Amino acid sequence: MGVRFRTALGDVSPYQAGRGGGEGTDHPDGAEKALLAQNEGAFGPVAAAQRAIQEEAAQGHRYPESGFAGLKREIAAYHGIPADNVFPAAGSCAVFHYLSLCLLDPGDEVLFCSPTFGAYGLEARKMGAVPVSVPLDADGAYDPAALLGAVSDRTKIVYVANPNNPTGGLVLRAALSAFLDAVPGHVLTVIDEAYFDYVDDPAYPDAIAEFFSDERPVAVTRTFSKIFGLAGLRVGYGVLPADIARKLAKVQMPFEVNRFALAAATATLRADPAEIRRRREATAAGRLRLVGELGAAGFAPLPASANFVQIRVGDAAAVAHDLAERGILVRPLGSWGQPDSIRVTVGTVEETTRFLDAFRSVMATGTPS
Ligand SMILES: *Cc1c(COP(=O)(O)O)cnc(C)c1O
Repeated sequence: MGVRFRTALGDVSPYQAGRGGGEGTDHPDGAEKALLAQNEGAFGPVAAAQRAIQEEAAQGHRYPESGFAGLKREIAAYHGIPADNVFPAAGSCAVFHYLSLCLLDPGDEVLFCSPTFGAYGLEARKMGAVPVSVPLDADGAYDPAALLGAVSDRTKIVYVANPNNPTGGLVLRAALSAFLDAVPGHVLTVIDEAYFDYVDDPAYPDAIAEFFSDERPVAVTRTFSKIFGLAGLRVGYGVLPADIARKLAKVQMPFEVNRFALAAATATLRADPAEIRRRREATAAGRLRLVGELGAAGFAPLPASANFVQIRVGDAAAVAHDLAERGILVRPLGSWGQPDSIRVTVGTVEETTRFLDAFRSVMATGTPS
């Protein structure tokens, strides 16, 4: 074929998702699969969001609000910041994409710790930029000192996943503050807080409340995909300096956030905060139970802070395969460079019970097939 693709695409492979509901949720034995491979919230959309989605159905032939002014106002009020600092998009991955499109020329560097969320490196490679990674610290958290040591003249973006996926490690308040004071002014720091509402450590900072300012090259991303239960609708946002938000608006797809997502996100932000607290507490209980029972079974999960736990199991691909045969989907971490580990999402109480039973049975059969 004679068409000439961009050189950068040679280094790009499509985003690799974990196994999930898209492949069907019924297990051959009739039980529903436990979907613990993608860190989706265990609880569905809040009731008000479900109603909002239904109420929008009759307007499905109408484009959503251009520029998303209504959702911007809701998010701005939720955080107590100006609406000009809010950039809604089809998930936080879309925010990473548009930041990359606005900032990265070929040969520029994008810095993060490894292993981490795949989108950071993927979005860099799409632009012909160079992903540069330094190791996480021993607890599986981003290492601010290592990041600072790797910043160069070509660095345009530094990501800080807090907590990190897949390990769950946290950068605490003092360390993040010192990092932001030290990072050179030509670098945009993107703090990814996809799991913010799950974390209950008092030393964990709210980067929007504590570090965001219109004058500082800092962007914070949040998503409706996790605790808010809207992963299937694709909506998230960045909180960033107004000048950067205006640049992102230049490259965003028109009407990118659909009217169902806009309505559901708005209803979710207005919902009773007690429901989100209940989800945080239920998830923390499930996380503690997983860590405790896995520890008692002789495994040592990494310190966990969100709705997932990383565990060393030996041959992770085989363990994930054997769990899938029992109707439990988890994420083997081979494609993240950790072929000996799986990541399991904290689901409902029933799902956690099913996972633990299946896991003990798989591990007891010796080297899994
Ligand atoms: C799940 C996740 C996201 C969310 O991505 P969306 O595009 O908003 O669904 C962002 N960052 C990390 C680290 C995640 O694990």
